[in-house]
Amino acid sequence: RDARPVSEAILAKRRAQVGYNLSISYRKPLHIVKGEGTWLFDADGRRYLDMVNNVCHVGHCHPHVVAAAQRQIATLNTNTRYLHQNLVAYAERLTATLPDPLSVCFFTCTGSEANDLALRLARTHTGGREVLIVDAAYHGHTNALIEMSPYKYEGPGGFDKVGHIHKLPMPDGYRGPIKHDDPNCGPRYAAFAEAMLHDMRERGVQPAGVFTESLLGCGGQIVLPPGYLTELYRLVRAAGGVCVADEVQVGFGRVGERFWGFETQDVVPDIVTLGKPIGNGHPMAAVVTTPEIAASFNNGMEYFNTFGGNPVSCAIGMAVLDVIENEGLQRYAAEVGGYLKAGLESLKTRHGLIGEVRGKGLFLGVELVRDHETLEPADTEASQIIEAMKDRGVLLSTDGPLHNVLKIKPPLAFGYAEADLALTHLDEVLSSMIG
Ligand code: PMP
Repeated sequence: RDARPVSEAILAKRRAQVGYNLSISYRKPLHIVKGEGTWLFDADGRRYLDMVNNVCHVGHCHPHVVAAAQRQIATLNTNTRYLHQNLVAYAERLTATLPDPLSVCFFTCTGSEANDLALRLARTHTGGREVLIVDAAYHGHTNALIEMSPYKYEGPGGFDKVGHIHKLPMPDGYRGPIKHDDPNCGPRYAAFAEAMLHDMRERGVQPAGVFTESLLGCGGQIVLPPGYLTELYRLVRAAGGVCVADEVQVGFGRVGERFWGFETQDVVPDIVTLGKPIGNGHPMAAVVTTPEIAASFNNGMEYFNTFGGNPVSCAIGMAVLDVIENEGLQRYAAEVGGYLKAGLESLKTRHGLIGEVRGKGLFLGVELVRDHETLEPADTEASQIIEAMKDRGVLLSTDGPLHNVLKIKPPLAFGYAEADLALTHLDEVLSSMIG
């Protein structure tokens, strides 16, 4: 018998037998065994406030979602080659949340599959191969998507940018070359696409389109400046490309003021990709596009996905939408998120380490700097804060290309009491760091 404590034995076995490059959070890893609402419980029964998991969108193990899954998995689970009510009912519900003409769904199991399929749709529809992306983006783990993800290919184990990928600067009005106070901040950042599209025309190659997140997650919780997507979409469409909104992290009511992140920029994409939150932890994702693009893609080659759109996934997807509607979670994200953001702003007035507080709804970021002039990133401090907050029972993560942004994206079950708790602990941790 293995005499080590269970968590140490799990760690040792994981290190020996599970792919080595799966990272584990925290210096001393957590052994989590249960989730409920916005709380996680470890093997010793200690509870942690989860401010990280944007996948368990409506709350860990939400009873309505669990019941829907249990009911359907005990009845039938097959692929999509038979008629089933759940598939069409879910497609109808999902597309009802999107503006016209986004009305045709393709179901997948992960965000990566959704973006990979979106790339195929864009290329088939336009005949182009070139793709524009934004710096620091992550769009997924397939070969094609790693090439479109500076977050990965520019990091350890990475490679030079491939020729058909064109990287726009992050429209970061805090740290980037064009600041928030420039009234044309958004359109000026979008204008970086002009030279790239011009160069494609000169070389006689065609853009397939542009992929952007509607708020930049791995980029460090960056809110796109007003007018950014309007101008970017105009330029890309004029060059014959299509516009893809990656809503895998930010969609589904999280940003509060609107259901979809792109709606906060007043644009309608040609293709939207969704993932993480739509199954509340069950692996499901989707691509939604226009009838025109779906018709181009219908070129004789079948699209088949063994698990995508199965009756269990669709039942779960509908249950998630039920909870969002019945519990008013979009409005709740706006209200609680606004309250939490105001609390963070108030911490900023007292703690010099906080350079900027940003985000919408329950998708927030706190950028930490050592100096407000040079914006020297406080990356080690960010990691120390994450560890100290964990010791106090609050789970946060860091992100951004400089690893100095506290990332806040809790399940939408997160309430005012949880916001107060997190703010109190963060205040104390920040005070102890200066003192
Ligand atoms: N797009 C974005 C914006 C993401 O954050 C992620 C996952 N972190 C993906 C795509 C890929 O999704 P998945 O891990 O489900 O393949």
